[in-house]
Amino acid sequence: MSYLNRKTIEDIDIKGKQVLLRCDFNIPFDKNGNISDARRITESLKTINYLLNNKAKIVLCSHLGRPNGEFDEKFSLKPVADYFNKILNIKVKFSNDVIGENSKALASSLKESEIMMLENLRFHKEETENDVEFAKKLASFAEIFVNDAFGTAHRAHASTVGVTNFLPSVCGFLIVKEISVMMSVLENPRRPFVAVLGGAKVSDKIGVIENLLEKVDTLIVGGGMAYTFMNALGYSIGTSICESDKVTLAADIMACAKDKLVKFLIPVDNRVGTEYSPSTEFKTVQSDSIPEGWMGLDIGPKTEALFSDALKDAATVLWNGPMGVAEWEKFSNGTFAIVKAVAESGAFSIIGGGDSAAAVEKLGYVDKMSHVSTGGGASLALLEGKELPAVAALNVK
Ligand code: AMP
Repeated sequence: MSYLNRKTIEDIDIKGKQVLLRCDFNIPFDKNGNISDARRITESLKTINYLLNNKAKIVLCSHLGRPNGEFDEKFSLKPVADYFNKILNIKVKFSNDVIGENSKALASSLKESEIMMLENLRFHKEETENDVEFAKKLASFAEIFVNDAFGTAHRAHASTVGVTNFLPSVCGFLIVKEISVMMSVLENPRRPFVAVLGGAKVSDKIGVIENLLEKVDTLIVGGGMAYTFMNALGYSIGTSICESDKVTLAADIMACAKDKLVKFLIPVDNRVGTEYSPSTEFKTVQSDSIPEGWMGLDIGPKTEALFSDALKDAATVLWNGPMGVAEWEKFSNGTFAIVKAVAESGAFSIIGGGDSAAAVEKLGYVDKMSHVSTGGGASLALLEGKELPAVAALNVK
């Protein structure tokens, strides 16, 4: 599905207009309540600055977390507004409601090149329900809708799809960038094209695997999902995570890779523990002999070398999902080894958001990658060839 025919912010006259700008500021915070990764904010700046330079009046909106449709201070967007004001030095007026009196007053008094930010959209359950009346009220704040929330593009919510029924609707620069990059590697990759998939479950990535098997030269599978493949090969996998109803499918996928001459790699060794805990005792064992009572929680050193070697000569790399429980230090080695191997490969590299992007960020390697996506779920949907409803809803050129 190509969306490059959707109107962008450059295809519409926004000079002096009031613009509802949907961003994805669903960002992580550390234990002290400070923003721990601001990339989704900084990636929105190109669109914001373009609007400011064109004297638009900006009504900024986003969701944050899953507050269950009611006000909950810990999901307030106030810290994001503070980040604009204090760290980025961009003045943002914050409204403590979404469609209430405060927002209405601020929106009607907005001047050219001024920005206001609505409180968390998901403080209203109508947002995720894509409620028509709620969408109409949001739309009433503006003359034009600009969507730049790539991270939420796979969701049909009131602020992503509903509002497009009431306003001329275009995409911002981040959505254009994310989709162009992903489409360029899916449609015309430089070869060899190597994809690395990890994460907990095969079931979440079946569509992605099937789609990628048509396109890649090498498919590397690590993380929890690899154990279902090992099970399909008849290996003993101890208490490792395994989807027993997907074992036959895993065997079919490996047979299909063989038919298509796609090199298919799974771990040859693993760091295993006795319990699913960051403090479990652990050791390294071969893939065909994980002892009873032990579970694979990361790829082992021989696998790191095997996977890194496969990445060395790649011209295009696409990576989505960690190689183990990377949020625990003891089991983060494999994931970090992939970060380094991808960076050193010199390939055109796309990191598909979520945990893999977090690992790249943690090692300070963002600049060494060609593209680190701001949307895990949305980039997976693109990789599967699925529709992104929020982009599909925008005006065609
Ligand atoms: P996903 O959201 O599908 O990309 O999966 C990410 C999650 O997979 C992370 O929270 C990891 O902790 C988890 N994960 C990765 N490897 C394993 C494993 N070997 N066993 C259990 N969970 C894993």
